[in-house]
Amino acid sequence: MSNQYDIAVVGGGLVGSSLAIALARSLSASYQIALIDSQPLAEINLNAHQHDGRSIALALSSKKMFDALGLWESLQPYATAIKNIHISDQGRFGATRLDSKRYEVESFGYLVPADYLIHSLNNSVDVLKNVTRLQPYEVSSVDNLPDHVALNKQSNNAVKANLLIAADGANSFIRKALNIDIEEKQYQQSAIVGSVECEQHHNNTAFERFTQEGPLALLPKQENHCGFIWMNPTDSAKVNLALDDQAFKDKLQSAFGFRLGHFKNISKRFSYPLALLVSQQRVQQRVVFIGNAAQTLHPIAGQGLNLALRDIAELVELLAENNLNEVDTQLLQYAEKRQPDIEKTIRFTDRLNFLFNADYPVLAQSRGLGLAMLGAIPILEERIVKQNLGEAGSNASLLRGKAVNL
Ligand SMILES: Cc1cc2nc3c(=O)[nH]c(=O)nc-3n(C[C@H](O)[C@H](O)[C@H](O)COP(=O)(O)OP(=O)(O)OC[C@H]3O[C@@H](n4cnc5c(N)ncnc54)[C@H](O)[C@@H]3O)c2cc1C
Repeated sequence: MSNQYDIAVVGGGLVGSSLAIALARSLSASYQIALIDSQPLAEINLNAHQHDGRSIALALSSKKMFDALGLWESLQPYATAIKNIHISDQGRFGATRLDSKRYEVESFGYLVPADYLIHSLNNSVDVLKNVTRLQPYEVSSVDNLPDHVALNKQSNNAVKANLLIAADGANSFIRKALNIDIEEKQYQQSAIVGSVECEQHHNNTAFERFTQEGPLALLPKQENHCGFIWMNPTDSAKVNLALDDQAFKDKLQSAFGFRLGHFKNISKRFSYPLALLVSQQRVQQRVVFIGNAAQTLHPIAGQGLNLALRDIAELVELLAENNLNEVDTQLLQYAEKRQPDIEKTIRFTDRLNFLFNADYPVLAQSRGLGLAMLGAIPILEERIVKQNLGEAGSNASLLRGKAVNL
C-alpha cells in the first residue's frame, strides 16, 4: 500500500509542527499534508513542568506569526512580555539597559515555556483536517526522484509526496541519506536550563550576564519566576548538574547576584550539549531542510526557532503564490532569498558566543567597553534590538501578523 501526499513534513518538533500548521492554514485545503515523527506523541503534563525545561524567547515577529496562524490565543496566558533587556558582566563595571518603549514597540518579544508551546502546537495540529499524523513512524529510507519523493519504499506503509520538508532535527536522517555534508563546530559547552523563583519581580526584564562559568540569562516568566539558561564549559556543566538543589541555587545566585533578591525554589534542571551545525545544502530537488536539520545554532541569542519561523513564513508564502507546480524551481528561489538572513544570523550567534566567553584580557576589556558603550553606539544597539524583534531578516506576511491569502 502507498500513502500519497502533496507534502510530507518529517519531524514533528517545534519547527515541523509550526510548519504543518502554517502550510495547512495558508495553502489550499485540498492539499494533503503528512506530519511524520519517529517518536510517539509526547504526553505533556503542564502542571509538572518536567518535560523540557527550556524557556523559548519568541521575537515579536514570531509572536505576530503565531497570532496570524490562530495560535497566540492559546499561548498568551503562559507568555510573558520582554520589555527590558539588561546586560552585565560579573566582576566588571557597567551594565547596558534597553527599554522597548524607546523603540515604540509593545515589547522585544515574549517568553513562552517550551512545554506550553509544544502542547499548544500539538493541539492545533490535531484539529487540522488536511494534516495526517504518522507517528511513531521512523523514516529509514528516502528516494528523491524527478517527479516525487518516496519514504520507506520497501515498507508496506510507504509514503510518497510531491514535496518533502525535512524538519528532522540536528542529526537529520534525511540529510545523511541524501549525502549532504555539514559544517560542524563543537562549542565544548552545555546549556543548563530550568526555572527559579525570585524574591523580587523581574519587571519584565531579560537579564543577560557574562559570568566566570559562561553566559547566563534569566528570562521573565509568570509572577516572580524566571527561566534560566547557563552556558557552561562541558566539565563545569557536569559538576553543576550533579549539585543538589540548594548547592546549585547558591552557585547560580553568586553568579547572578542579588538584582532580584534571594532565589527561592528551583526547578528540575536539564542540559543540552551545544554545537553549530550548518547543512551544506538547504535544498535538493524537491527536498528542503528547515529548523535544526538545516542549521543548529548556539542558543545564546535565542535565534534557532525564530530563524526557522522566518524560513517557514517565506516558504509558505512562495508555495501559496505558486501552488506546488515546479517545486524544485520554487525551492531554489526560496534558498536564494533566505541565504542572507540565515548567514547573518549564524554569524551573529557564533560571534556573540565568542565575545561572551572570551577570557583573554584584551577581549574581555573590549567586551566591558562594548557593554558600557552599547547605549552610545546606535548601530550596535540597533543590531541587537533588530535581532530580538526578528524584523531584520524577512518581510513575509505572516511575520507581520497577516494571514497568507488563499
Ligand atoms: C537550551 C536551548 C534554548 C533555546 N532557546 C531558544 C529561544 O529562546 N528562542 C529560539 O528561537 N530558539 C531557541 N532554541 C532553539 C530551538 O529550541 C530550536 O531551534 C528548535 O527546537 C529546533 O526544532 P526542530 O523541530 O528543528 O528540531 P527537533 O526539536 O530536534 O525535532 C526534530 C524531530 O524530528 C524527529 N525525527 C528525527 N529523526 C526522524 C526520523 N528518521 N523519522 C521521523 N522523525 C524523525 C524527532 O523525533 C523530533 O521530534 C533553544 C535551543 C536550546 C538547546
